[in-house]
Amino acid sequence: MLGVMAKTERDKPSRRMCAGCGSRTERGELVRLVVGDSEPFVAVDLGRRLSGRGVSVHPKRTCIRSAALRGGLARALRGVAQIEPESLERMIVQQFEQRAVGLLSSAQRARSVALGGDAVRTALKANKGDLLIRAKDSRGRGDELAHAATAHGCATATWGTKASLGDAFSRSELGVLLVMDRGIARAILDCLSHIEALSEDG
Ligand SMILES: [Zn+2]
Repeated sequence: MLGVMAKTERDKPSRRMCAGCGSRTERGELVRLVVGDSEPFVAVDLGRRLSGRGVSVHPKRTCIRSAALRGGLARALRGVAQIEPESLERMIVQQFEQRAVGLLSSAQRARSVALGGDAVRTALKANKGDLLIRAKDSRGRGDELAHAATAHGCATATWGTKASLGDAFSRSELGVLLVMDRGIARAILDCLSHIEALSEDG
């Protein structure tokens, strides 16, 4: 009997129900929200470290909207409070931004990042690089480097501004950088795809 329970317990934790669309999904594809028990508050718990009542939701507009307005999140708040879908979206985007910046820092600690046009070009020539990131306001050589990166089979993404990318590395500005670690590159791309999906107009 115990064996059966243990198996069920092992199978269970990886799947959760989305509080918006109601489908059961791999836990990793959902964002965990923590809802206050006595005080009505909602916190985004990307790292799944916070204790408290958890509600999971796909990081998608439609799911966030229905979770907040009438789904599992609204029920968890017991009608005493309501969170605007737009502010929940902003909170989730902010957390993904923070996570992506954290991943850039890990890449830097592992010396797996090239910063600035010259360093990026040198790394690409040496056939290194898994993800090239350009600031939205970077101009000129960014295009040329992005082409070179694509030719090397390296992913490319546009994210932030020269000032915000610079901030992540204690520089005044940074137009282009290259992540040279496949795992970190994949995790950053995952964050960026959620940020993009939630930042689109409409
Ligand atoms: Zn959903």
